[in-house]
Amino acid sequence: MILYALRCDCGHEFDEWFDNMADYDARKGAIACPSCGGTKVEKAIMAPSVGKARAAAAAPPPACNPAGCSNAGCPMAQFM
Ligand SMILES: [Zn+2]
Repeated sequence: MILYALRCDCGHEFDEWFDNMADYDARKGAIACPSCGGTKVEKAIMAPSVGKARAAAAAPPPACNPAGCSNAGCPMAQFM
């Protein structure tokens, strides 16, 4: 499903769900503006709302220095 922001002839903006782009093309002209009922509806230019949510890179656990770890619970301690 794709949510398109649409704008009618009068400038009313509203959202409409479509299965895909072909569905939009098929229904274009049959979509009526909920505010004025106009059917001259086009896709409005939407500011992209994605891209900021960058997947935080999972930081690897800090590498333990096998030669000088002072952490008693360190798994490397058993080798010293
Ligand atoms: Zn309208």
